[in-house]
Formats: sequence, C-alpha cells, structure tokens
Amino acid sequence: YDLFQSRFPADLSSPFIETDPFINKDRGRIYSYADLHETSGRYARLLTDLGVRKGDRVAVQVEKSPEAIFLYLACLRAGAAYLPLNTAYTKAEVAYFVGDAEPAVVVCRPESEPVIAEVAAKAGVGHVLTLGQSGDGSLPERARGLDPDYATVPAEPGDLAAILYTSGTTGRSKGAMMSHRNLGSNAQALHRIWGWKPGDVLLHALPIFHTHGLFVATNCVLLNGSGMLFLPRFDLDRVVELLPRATVFMGVPTFYTRLLSDPRMTPDLCRSMRLFISGSAPLLADTHREFQERTGHPILERYGMTETGMLTSNPLDGDRVPGTVGFPLPGVELRVVDEKTGEPLGTDGIGIIEVRGPNVFGGYWRMPEKTRSEFRPDGFFITGDVGKIDGRGYVHIVGRAKDLIISGGFNVYPKEVESVIDAIDGIVESAVVGVPHPDFGEAVVAVAMRRPGRDDVTVDRVAAVCKEELANYKVPKRIFFIDELPRNAMGKVQKNLLRDEHKALFA
Ligand code: ATP
Ligand code: MG
Repeated sequence: YDLFQSRFPADLSSPFIETDPFINKDRGRIYSYADLHETSGRYARLLTDLGVRKGDRVAVQVEKSPEAIFLYLACLRAGAAYLPLNTAYTKAEVAYFVGDAEPAVVVCRPESEPVIAEVAAKAGVGHVLTLGQSGDGSLPERARGLDPDYATVPAEPGDLAAILYTSGTTGRSKGAMMSHRNLGSNAQALHRIWGWKPGDVLLHALPIFHTHGLFVATNCVLLNGSGMLFLPRFDLDRVVELLPRATVFMGVPTFYTRLLSDPRMTPDLCRSMRLFISGSAPLLADTHREFQERTGHPILERYGMTETGMLTSNPLDGDRVPGTVGFPLPGVELRVVDEKTGEPLGTDGIGIIEVRGPNVFGGYWRMPEKTRSEFRPDGFFITGDVGKIDGRGYVHIVGRAKDLIISGGFNVYPKEVESVIDAIDGIVESAVVGVPHPDFGEAVVAVAMRRPGRDDVTVDRVAAVCKEELANYKVPKRIFFIDELPRNAMGKVQKNLLRDEHKALFA
C-alpha cells in the first residue's frame, strides 16, 4: 500500500475514477482519492474482522467497477493476496479457482451469491461477503461505520500481494504469485518510461481481472495519482466519444482494429491524446501503420506476461518499430537462448526468451514442480516465448515455443508463414498451426480471415503466394477461410481450438 500511497495526490479530493454515465449502472460518478482511501480502508478493516491475515487469499468475483479496485487496495492494506475472478467464468471454472486458491473470503454480488455460496462451502471457504447491487456505490452495511485508517498492515516487499491466473491460452490457467515488490517495481518502471504526468487521464476500457487492466493500467494511474475514465468494457461508441477527454489509452490489438473501423477516428478526435499503447497479443504491422495514418499516432507496443509483469516497451521518444516490442524495461534482464543447448544467442538469433528482475514472480501457486522447471539455476525465468533481439536492440516476438511446428524434422515458426499470408491484399489476418500427420509428424495448416467482400482471394491464390515465398516444408498443406479467428477475453488467438478442430485432417 505504501507503494501507491506515497504518490497519492496532495489534494485527496482530486478524481481517481470517473464511471461512465451512458453504460454504467450507477449513471456516472466521480470517486476521489479520498473515496479510495476511505472505502479501501473500511474494506480492509472488514476483511481483518472476518479473520483475514497476512498471506490469506481474498477472491473477488465482482464486475469491473470502482468497488473491485477498492477491494484490490483493501487486500494490499490488509496484507492479503487479491485474487480477481472473471465474472464470465462458469460455475465449474469458479469452483476450480476457488478450490485451487482456498481463499479465506470470497466477495461477490447478490446475483452470484447462490453459486458462490455453494462453491465456497465445497472448498471449505470461511466467508462469503456479498456486496450491494452493482452500481449502488455503497459499502456493505457492516463496513460503513468502520475506521478507514485502522487496518493497514505493513507489507514487506516479498509479501504476497496477488494471485493472478494466466490467460489459459496454452492450457489450464496457472496462478501466478505476485509480491508487493513485483507489482511496485513494474509500476515504477512503466510510470517512468511512459512519462506519466500529473494531468494524464487514462481511458480505461480493459478488463481488470488480468494483468493488463489491473497491474499495468490501474497501477500506473495509482502511482501517478491521476484520474481515469472507467468503462465497464470496450464499447466502440463510448471510447470514440471519450477520447477527446483522455491523454492515454491502453488496448489489446483487437481494440485497435475496432477503432480503425470507425470513420470518426481522425487526428482531430485524438488531439488531447499523448499515448496509445498496445499489448497482450501481437499487433499487426498493418494495424500500426493504418492507425498512424489515420490519427497521426504511432501505437506504442509493449510485451509482458502475467508471471513477469511487463518486460519490454517501444520507446516513448524514438522509433516505435512496427512488428517489434521494443527494449527491455529498466531493471529487466532479457536474453534469448538456444532452445536445445540453453546457450545465449547473438544478434538476430531466434530462440527462447528468458528474463530476470524484481518484476518476475515467485512461482506458480501450489505448483512447485512446474515452478522449478520454468526457472534456470541462475534465476532466469523461461517465458516460453520465442523471439530475437535485432542489431538495434529491439526485441521481436516470433511466437510461442508450444506453437512451434516440426514438420518432417524441420522447424516452422508459424509467425513466418502468417506474415506471408497477412501481406496478401484482401487478407486481414491468419493463424498457422501444426496438426498430426502420418508422414511428417506435423503438417502446416493455415486459417485466414478475408476482408469483407474479398471472396476473390481464393485458397489457390494464398497457396501460390506461399509457394513463391516460402521453402516447401513451410507451405501450408491445407488452407481454410474463417469469418473470425477464435480469441479469448484478451484478444489472443486460441490456437489450441484451431488445432483441435483440424486434428483429424490427415488421420
Ligand atoms: P497461458 O500462460 O495460461 O497459456 P497466456 O500466456 O496467454 O496464457 P498471459 O500471461 O495473459 O497468458 O499472456 C502472456 C503472453 O502473451 C506472452 O507470453 C506472449 O506470448 C503474449 N504477448 C503479450 N504481449 C505480446 C506482444 N506485444 N506481442 C506478442 N505476444 C505478446
Ligand atoms: Mg503464458
């Protein structure tokens, strides 16, 4: 809590969260830093009264709302670990996370109380804390009279601050144990390199159960002591209407493609804007260029993971190179090593990205074996991402090790094939996966999205371009068109779904 309180604005009446009058149930309200301090203090006291102690987990299944943020801070102040749960999770998913994390308390809304109560009882959770209706802005009855200053438990840098589950793109989500040091060091690095200023206003349209919306977006604002326009979700109209009041916007690449579909996106609309940031999934170089042409703003792309926080960023001043994720953040050591030998590679050598620094998590919750296998003896964490560092020091992400295709004994990096297909006029985006093949082990299969009305781009045309530009073993054995690539909540392409769909293709 000290991490953030130290930079609280001198004037506590200054705005922290402004909710949106058009799509928010509380009809638009401004919550000041005083509200944040008092409400999070009372929640912290309430949690402490319920028996929450240092190291305990508090699971919060509350939709994106100021209360969810206040509860996050309350956990930090009570010495507990904040564990956000997506409200879109099914009962089985909630049961898995609650059973895995064994929180002392689960916080929910009245509408989900029956499910939460049942799940909590099964997992032996002591308390379910039910808030009021979403948007009523009020504290539970029993928290109202509590002293907001009482509960703050001093935290050591190594204390557990949160358990954040990974996105589950490559398998079952894992709980990443994040300490106060992890969150604080990363927020400070981002705050510095992105040049946050007192007058900055963040337009916040990301979900907050994930590292992007919580630890990148919200922590930067908290550290800066400034305000944010808080949308419950990405709503194209509202984002476009609110941009003229903002200076910073953060999005996943799909937000940017949707913004580009709106003719109102012009330099004039973005006059007040200082910074557009993208992350969580690869930003197409085309999107980057088109956005710059339309608005005058080169998107700043950065790269990170739940387990490590943010790792790299393109520069605030200087070239933001499309197709790269920029330079390692201050304090982050990043190396690329040979997948087989583990030896560090030189300029442009493609291998596994490994990282070390105060931002890197302590391990996976209750997965000691898994944790051990993902760290090198010298403390570097194996990200599982494949990439390279070019001659100017820019980091390039080539894909994930798990997505690497080995066809007839040759390595195929899906990104290389995707880049060739994406560059075809009339193609929006493609995804390339490996599926079992009796002769080659795996065969390359491509799935591509065409621009609307571009049915003239045929499978034969895509195949011809691939044959012209790629070595034979990289050319997709089959090519399919699809209306929309399957994506998860963070806009990441779910390649496992594509692999599953096509797994019997060559059986
Ligand atoms: P899981 O680990 O459960 O399979 P996940 O890796 O998608 O899911 P996250 O921690 O949300 O879960 O995502 C981190 C990953 O997202 C990184 O390892 C990387 O593969 C990808 N990523 C993040 N930012 C970028 C970026 N700018 N460009 C390319 N990939 C990115
Ligand atoms: Mg991951």
